[in-house]
Amino acid sequence: MVSATSDVPWPHLRHLAREATHLAYAPYSHVLVGAAGITTEGTFVVGSNIENASYGLTLCAECSLVSDLVRQGGGRLRALAVVAGDGEPLAPCGRCRQVLYEHAGPALEIDQGDGRATLTLGDLLPHAFGPDDLPTRSTP
Ligand SMILES: [Zn+2]
Repeated sequence: MVSATSDVPWPHLRHLAREATHLAYAPYSHVLVGAAGITTEGTFVVGSNIENASYGLTLCAECSLVSDLVRQGGGRLRALAVVAGDGEPLAPCGRCRQVLYEHAGPALEIDQGDGRATLTLGDLLPHAFGPDDLPTRSTP
């Protein structure tokens, strides 16, 4: 069980994210993106961006990672590293912040690179709409 920032194997997550860039399908932008996360139970999940000729249907690496999470049985994401092909961190886009929120909540730690403090998903997506909002907002 991963329970504190110091327990997060950031170098390994960065390594997995970098490796995932090699599996990206990015024939249009040529921006290779890889993402790696660890769940609260210690399971590693990875993803790569998958572009589409329609552009709008492109899947980001974080979406691919969430697919891997669900494919492996689910769980809650604890920490995340996203990098480009050069190994440098990338911030999740707006859509991915919402997708990640569903499977992590505001406490998800997001790598900012060596020597830089992590951010949380709550920092990147304050006042998020999430699954807990649905019961109170649905019309009977
Ligand atoms: Zn995205």
